[in-house]
Amino acid sequence: MLDVSDFITSAVSPNKGLLMTTLAIKLGTPFWLYDASIVRRQIKRLQGFDIIRYAQKANGNINLLKIIRRNGVKIDAVSNGEIARALAAGYRAGSNDLVFVSDVFDQTTLKQVVELCIPVNCGSTDMIDQLAMLSPGHQIWLRINPGFGHGHSKKTNTGGPLSKHGIWHEQLSELGRKIKSSKLNLVGLHMHIGSDVDYKHLGKVCNAMIEAYMKLGMQIRAVSAGGGLSIPYHSDCKNVAIDYYAQQWNVARLKIQDSQTIPVQIEIEPGRFLVAEAGYLIAEVRAVKKVAERYFVIVDAGFNDLVRPAMYGSYHHICFIDPAANLVIGALHQVAVAGPLCEAGDVFTQNKDGTIEFKNLPLPKIGDFCIFADAGAYGSTMSSNYNSRPLIPEVIVDGSDIRLVRRRQTIKEMLSLENDDHLLEN
Ligand SMILES: *Cc1c(COP(=O)(O)O)cnc(C)c1O
Repeated sequence: MLDVSDFITSAVSPNKGLLMTTLAIKLGTPFWLYDASIVRRQIKRLQGFDIIRYAQKANGNINLLKIIRRNGVKIDAVSNGEIARALAAGYRAGSNDLVFVSDVFDQTTLKQVVELCIPVNCGSTDMIDQLAMLSPGHQIWLRINPGFGHGHSKKTNTGGPLSKHGIWHEQLSELGRKIKSSKLNLVGLHMHIGSDVDYKHLGKVCNAMIEAYMKLGMQIRAVSAGGGLSIPYHSDCKNVAIDYYAQQWNVARLKIQDSQTIPVQIEIEPGRFLVAEAGYLIAEVRAVKKVAERYFVIVDAGFNDLVRPAMYGSYHHICFIDPAANLVIGALHQVAVAGPLCEAGDVFTQNKDGTIEFKNLPLPKIGDFCIFADAGAYGSTMSSNYNSRPLIPEVIVDGSDIRLVRRRQTIKEMLSLENDDHLLEN
């Protein structure tokens, strides 16, 4: 059962509630709010690693990236668009600041990484071949699929024989020979086996890294532990034991270092961990429907804004506040919270197999606000224009500094790509 007092402490402090209602009046709803102090707190928690490299696909707002960069965090990019975002945020190409990670190059991105000398983390041998042809001396990492994976859902498991990601571990000895004969410059080895992983398998991952290193038979300068660090979405979840995590990787690092002549750094590549808890989605309650004995509260945000519940059955803390920023309390009812999309699956309270879940929640009134907590990761970056709904604004609060960092897309902008239709061929 949901405990109202939890929300006050962990999700929405009274001050933050007031900020949300003020912004709702100013900007309209729905909108995203990010708290920079929480991002900084999370960065501090990872100081046991030599290098923190942010996986910007979790949240790529340029202004958020600037804050992250100023706190000494490096970055990765998984597309040409993300390379452009990193550069716009002040990251330098041609240095260790920015690494391109993928299993494939499209033609445009290949040209771009060669031109800007961006180190590439290669998830397929085809990438290595294509890069070796065009760019001798290019810095590369190898993303390895160790033969197993873990993740919070099938869709976020990124290792094992069913995963498209990484270079299959059995091909490494052969690959070592290929890299030596090409003129590519090997930086390090990387494994990212899933998102929101549990740590029972950490020892196994570290051992797989050492084994991969041995098979490859080349000196490396760095090992990347990938991302996947979880955050406590449920109030009864524990925080990740970061120190234990860093310690285990340190043991692996020392083993590798002992069998070569150059030092090895450990990188960690978090996405969710840095930004999830910093973000809120604020929507307005527009209908409170009684259906049989239960209720649907329908808000003005849909899965085109926040898709995680519809896509993975993910859980987000939900609470309601009134326009004066008081937490809505009172008798608890069986409540499902849904969006406005013309789609039965547009429900924020559902489990992994798509069954609608009714939660014990107090009933809000029309005009109250609905707050989705822990929405800073894979929220706005996974939004779409489905049902022809424009992308919504983003705001960063940093102490007393409150900034609109993305304005609301207009309907005109949304339609503009279709304006000048013309005949391509007769
Ligand atoms: C998505 C991704 C990450 C970040 O995953 P989180 O679960 O958000 O930490 C890190 N590395 C790679 C290669 C990824 O694809």
